[in-house]
Amino acid sequence: MATELVEELGQAVELRRNFAIISHPDAGKTTLTEKLLLYGGAIHEAGAVKARRDQRKVTSDWMAMEQQRGISITSTVLQFVYRNCQINLLDTPGHQDFSEDTYRTLAAADNAVMLIDAAKGLEPQTRKLFEVCKLRGIPIFTFVNKLDRPGREPLDLLDEIEQELGLQTYAVNWPIGMGDRFKGVFDRHQQQIHLFERSAHGSREARDTIINLGDSRIEELLEQDLYHQLKDELELLEGAGGELDLELVHQGKMTPVFFGSAMTNFGVELFLKYFLDYALKPGTHHSSVGEIPPTYPEFSGFVFKLQANMDPKHRDRVAFVRVCTGKFEKDMTVNHARTGKVVRLSRPQKLFAQERESIDVAYPGDVIGLNNPGVFAIGDTIYTGQKLEYEGIPYFSPELFATLRNPNPSKFKQFQKGVSELREEGAVQIMYSNDEAKRDPILAAVGQLQFEVVQFRLQNEYGVETILDLLPYSVARWVEGGWEALNQVGRLFNTTTVKDSMGRPVLLFRNEWNCQQLEGDHPELKLSAIAPVFS
Ligand code: GDP
Repeated sequence: MATELVEELGQAVELRRNFAIISHPDAGKTTLTEKLLLYGGAIHEAGAVKARRDQRKVTSDWMAMEQQRGISITSTVLQFVYRNCQINLLDTPGHQDFSEDTYRTLAAADNAVMLIDAAKGLEPQTRKLFEVCKLRGIPIFTFVNKLDRPGREPLDLLDEIEQELGLQTYAVNWPIGMGDRFKGVFDRHQQQIHLFERSAHGSREARDTIINLGDSRIEELLEQDLYHQLKDELELLEGAGGELDLELVHQGKMTPVFFGSAMTNFGVELFLKYFLDYALKPGTHHSSVGEIPPTYPEFSGFVFKLQANMDPKHRDRVAFVRVCTGKFEKDMTVNHARTGKVVRLSRPQKLFAQERESIDVAYPGDVIGLNNPGVFAIGDTIYTGQKLEYEGIPYFSPELFATLRNPNPSKFKQFQKGVSELREEGAVQIMYSNDEAKRDPILAAVGQLQFEVVQFRLQNEYGVETILDLLPYSVARWVEGGWEALNQVGRLFNTTTVKDSMGRPVLLFRNEWNCQQLEGDHPELKLSAIAPVFS
């Protein structure tokens, strides 16, 4: 029985890949996602994801808030099958709904796809998300998008990634032409030229003609100057040396780079194909009892995200769990590591865009949504069998700070309860002033939306109307060694010291520059942009 299960798990892992896309707004994440779903057969015509989003009915105030802002607060995990492989795309909230959840989603991802606009190169949000991936050492696959528009030189873009992110690059394919003259890509592995035909807005798979490099038909199919340019650039690439080293890719030190255009579908399928070949399968996880392989026959996973009020009629909360080991089955009972409670996992869900579908089984690398009657917090481990606990998910440096006030003394209790519960859920970080006279909590967030959600929920769920006063900080740093280390350095300038919810000191700065200056003045003080949840 146990060996059968191990075999079943082994097969499931072999055929699973999970990834998240990291990018800056407008680089083409929605478009690329749609095209991947199109190739995965999950949708038949591109445009469906957006259309579904637009058709959504207003079912609640919460939804009204989403509609008003024209964004999606509700998270999605998209699943599709390509060449027998089950691919899980963890959607990282972006745009205005950029929040700490965006970072946390990366804690559940085995691979990241870094999507770059060819005209813009690396942009701020991409860099930030890259840092989180780097910290976890996950493989990063680069897709340079919008080659159908005038952009920067491909070699220049590779150079930027190498210099600024410290990642070695290996171009898996190479673009032929650019802008109006973007004709296709060269697959360096197969040594084949793919010439594409544009379809109406790329709503269907792009038809491509594949020819070998030396094929005489090339003269008819491709303009001479583009062909010569390709040959010259390939020579340059070969001359620069460098092989694709999958070990380095899997350690997050080398990035395979793909060029294409999500809008016209050029290069999307090639990307998907090589991604499947090169990406990491669901792997081992570090836990309190050592490294645990995914084929470990007991079920375990961790909560990386909580979603409140997707359906306020039921006041439900959904806890998103990344399955790490074993097989998940509907209605199973598991242990909850933090509280020691036994929990029955009923009504599990997988999510496709806004629709929820009940699931019966899930394997390592999958994400399940569990109805969460207030039991789960970010980073919690659930397991069967021997007790084990995963490392938890760190707090990430907030960039927005505000004091939250409750002007109505009769609501004191509700206010306290609401703030504390929302903090536990991970909706926002809470800090307190060092000055005992200042009791109002300081909300600390990665994205503006987090403030709005907190105020909205305090009013809706706890009946407390609050006032938010923005504070002029944009950088937070935890101090290694805590208060003891901090007290040894004496007076600090251009920074404010506050306490996080665990009483640890946090330094707030108006800007990066002030932070760097303090680090320069006090090299003995070790500052960190990330704090572990449990210490
Ligand atoms: P997101 O903000 O990253 O999700 O980006 P979207 O997918 O919404 O794309 C932003 C804009 O770029 C839209 O107008 C897209 O039509 C456009 N876009 C996306 N991919 C491409 C591409 O490959 N070529 C061109 N020319 N435009 C693109």
